Amino acid sequence: MKNLSKLFKQNKQWAEKITNQQPDFFEESAKGQSPNYLWIGCSDSRVPPTQLTGLGPGDLFVHRNIANVISHSDVNSQSVIQYAVSVLKVEHVVICGHYGCGGVQAAYEDPDLGLIDNWLADIQDVYRKHKNEIGNIGSEEEKLNRFCELNVLAQVQNTCHSPFVQQAWEERQELTVHGLIYDLKTGLLNDLDIHITSPEEAEDL
Ligand SMILES: [Zn+2]
Repeated sequence: MKNLSKLFKQNKQWAEKITNQQPDFFEESAKGQSPNYLWIGCSDSRVPPTQLTGLGPGDLFVHRNIANVISHSDVNSQSVIQYAVSVLKVEHVVICGHYGCGGVQAAYEDPDLGLIDNWLADIQDVYRKHKNEIGNIGSEEEKLNRFCELNVLAQVQNTCHSPFVQQAWEERQELTVHGLIYDLKTGLLNDLDIHITSPEEAEDL
């Protein structure tokens, strides 16, 4: 679609609504940000972090990619972690996967998708590691859901091993890395009971 008039119209309404509620909101917001959370999630259009957490502009520093993958060789995600942890000093890093994730499903089914295959290779490593557990689960949907959860766990581990997270912990900075999963069918976040606050806890994962 060439025409973005709908987006401009709605943007104007949105800005007016916020200004009516809080006349200096954008002026204050333009001065700087101090979010308390780094959100690492999937690019999926159905998982909008600010909306589903009821937060607003300035509350979340966000990194999204296909299937919420954190790789040590990915300069993009490592730069986001560095800025959020070392400069903004967020207290929480949230890795949020979601059930029904197309990226995880593609890694599971392993079709030839071209460039994206390289991206999915990291998730396929997660599958190989947990092949027995996933294989013993009943339906295909349940298998994929568990694979989505295990992918969150793996990405929490990768995040905890990021040099910037390790450095923050060494310097006794308050920092917790959380693993959550969002359910597209209910709109609810599920706690995977992963809340890592130190290198020792990360090793025990
Ligand atoms: Zn996804």
